[in-house]
Amino acid sequence: MHGIHHVTAIAGSPNANLKFYTRGLGLRLVKKTVNFDDPGTYHFYFGDERGSPGTILTFFPWEHAAPGHNGVGLTQTTAFRVPLESFEFWVRRLNELGVKHDAPVERFGDKVLTFRDPDGMSLALVGVAGAEAEDSWSNGPIVAEHAIRGFHGVTLKLEEAAPTGAILTDVLGFENRGHDEGHVRFKAQSTIGGIVDIHVARENLAGRMGRGSVHHVAFRAKDDAEQRQMVKKLVVDHRLAATEQKDRNYFRSVYFREPGGILFEIATDEPGFAVDEPLEKLGTDLKLPAFLEPRRKELEEVLPHLELAR
Ligand code: ZN
Repeated sequence: MHGIHHVTAIAGSPNANLKFYTRGLGLRLVKKTVNFDDPGTYHFYFGDERGSPGTILTFFPWEHAAPGHNGVGLTQTTAFRVPLESFEFWVRRLNELGVKHDAPVERFGDKVLTFRDPDGMSLALVGVAGAEAEDSWSNGPIVAEHAIRGFHGVTLKLEEAAPTGAILTDVLGFENRGHDEGHVRFKAQSTIGGIVDIHVARENLAGRMGRGSVHHVAFRAKDDAEQRQMVKKLVVDHRLAATEQKDRNYFRSVYFREPGGILFEIATDEPGFAVDEPLEKLGTDLKLPAFLEPRRKELEEVLPHLELAR
């Protein structure tokens, strides 16, 4: 199954981030760990009950990160699926939370509500008919009927669609599905996280990565063998280099810069988030990879205190 595996973004305050995504949007905190490359910083993973591929939004919260600036060469919007019938519920909920949102628009035939998180990250809710039958995190503050069903997709803001589109179709398992008002749509097999839209914005200024920006978008590979095949296509057919494989404990990853300048990752579906704590306790304790376990005490002292009890 191909599609988006996870989206990783940069936040400011870890407490504000945790509160907004769990209490506000009703996602499950499926893992509380550290940035393996910068272990004095948290790495939060939000998703559905089990953190299924296609539902996972992750953050590096850097309290003093400078604000980012949306523009060409960055991921513009990250969109979640909600049942079409729940669209009005979400408009009311965002109003109650004091979250400013744009007027709903229609894109590719779907109702889209765009809003921003506390760090200015551009998010959207897309009303999808029939999505109520899909899995969600039902034990959170939002009743299952209305809960978010994982990603609808992401929108990338790029100067041209074709070079990035070629990577999406040849390597990452997407198909070109045509365009609507300056957006070219690519669709993968997976219902959850199956869409990448490229917003062609030639005249716009380059974006600047910072607080509220997406750091990278990760795409699914079933396992190491499929990931190796995808990397081979990248190198042989597209002359793009990928990093060596990195073990992220919950999946294994390679990274590459796509032709439009956005950092892409290919992450394996296995082993998933229940590898170091049981499903019912996901996100409860601070989890560290084996190589950082000897530094637990030191890290727990430098990591910011989290106010939100479970
Ligand atoms: Zn990642």
